[in-house]
Amino acid sequence: MIKSFFKENNFEYQEEVSLKPYNTYRIDIKAKYLIFPKNKDELLKILKYLKQNNIKYLVLGNGSNIILTMDYYDGVIIKLDHLNNININNDEIEVEAGCFLPKLSKQMANSSLSGLEFASGIPGQVGASIAMNAGAYNKDMASIVTSVTVINPHLEEETLLTENLDFKYRSSFLKEHEDYIVIKATLKLTKGSKEAILNLMQDRQKRRLATQPLEYPNSGSVFRNPIDNYAGSLIENCHLKNYHINDAYVSEKHANFIINKGHATGKDIVNLIEYIQKKVKEKYHIELILEQKIIK
Ligand SMILES: Cc1cc2nc3c(=O)[nH]c(=O)nc-3n(C[C@H](O)[C@H](O)[C@H](O)COP(=O)(O)OP(=O)(O)OC[C@H]3O[C@@H](n4cnc5c(N)ncnc54)[C@H](O)[C@@H]3O)c2cc1C
Repeated sequence: MIKSFFKENNFEYQEEVSLKPYNTYRIDIKAKYLIFPKNKDELLKILKYLKQNNIKYLVLGNGSNIILTMDYYDGVIIKLDHLNNININNDEIEVEAGCFLPKLSKQMANSSLSGLEFASGIPGQVGASIAMNAGAYNKDMASIVTSVTVINPHLEEETLLTENLDFKYRSSFLKEHEDYIVIKATLKLTKGSKEAILNLMQDRQKRRLATQPLEYPNSGSVFRNPIDNYAGSLIENCHLKNYHINDAYVSEKHANFIINKGHATGKDIVNLIEYIQKKVKEKYHIELILEQKIIK
C-alpha cells in the first residue's frame, strides 16, 4: 500500500536500502524505505500519510551525530537533501534544512559574510545542526539563527524565533521535541573580508586534521565536555585509548572520538560508551554526558 502511494505520487524513494552511506559511523543496517522529498509540499504529504497509517519514520540529516542500534529499521527514513536552497539578502540568509553546513559556510565566505567560519568542518545539515545547536570554537548555531520554520506535530508550518528555541550547549527545544521538523531557517551574518574568513576556515580545518581521526568513520565528539574539564583528557587518563569492543575503538588520536575500524555495530559503540562512562565515573566521579544520539 505504501509503495503504491509513493509510486502514484512519483516520489523519489528506495526500498530495502543499506544505511551505511547515510551515517558517518558507517553502521551497516537496512531500512525498509528511504525517501527524498523534492520540496516542502511533498514532505507534508508524506508525513500526513505516515501519521495517518501509523508508520514509523525518522528524519535524518547527514547522519553525523547518530548511533543506529537496531538490526533493521522497519519504517521510513526521510532525507531532506533536496531542500537545500540558499537565499542571500545582504547579511540575512534564508537557508533550507537539507543544506550541507560546510557547503553553506564556503558559500558565505565567498560572499564575504562572516559568522559561519566555525561550521566549515561540521559535516551536518542545517536543520539537524540547529536542533543539536552544533558549534565549535566558542560559537554555535544559536549565535546566528534568528528564526526557524518548522512543521509542527499538527503538520502545520510554524515560525519560531530564537527566543522560543531554548538554545543551550549542544541542545535546543527542537532536540527535546523530535516531532518538530526544521524546514528552513533565517540566519544573521556580518559583512567581512573574504580573505580573512577563508584564512580562518583553513586554519581551523588544519587543526581538525591534526587532532581528529578523520581517516576513520566516526561521528565527532562522543561526550560533552564537563564544566572546566575535557572529556578527551578524562578518557585518556583512564588509559582507554585504543580500548575496543569488536571493531569500535577509542581513537588513539583523540580519546573523545570512537572510530569504526571495520564492521562495528551500533551496539558495539553503545557498549563501548557505557564502559568509558563507568571507568571515568569510577576514577573521577564524573558522569560523562553523551553528545551523540542513540537511535533505537
Ligand atoms: C568529523 C566530525 C566532526 C564533527 N564536529 C562537530 C563540531 O565541531 N561541533 C558539533 O557540534 N558537532 C560536530 N559533529 C557532529 C555533527 O556533525 C553535528 O552534530 C551535526 O550538526 C549533525 O548534523 P546531521 O545532519 O548529521 O544530523 P543527524 O546525525 O542526521 O541527526 C541528528 C538528529 O537531528 C534530527 N534531525 C535531522 N534533520 C532534522 C530536521 N530537519 N529537523 C529536526 N531534527 C532533525 C535527527 O532525527 C537526529 O535526531 C562532528 C561530526 C563529525 C563526523
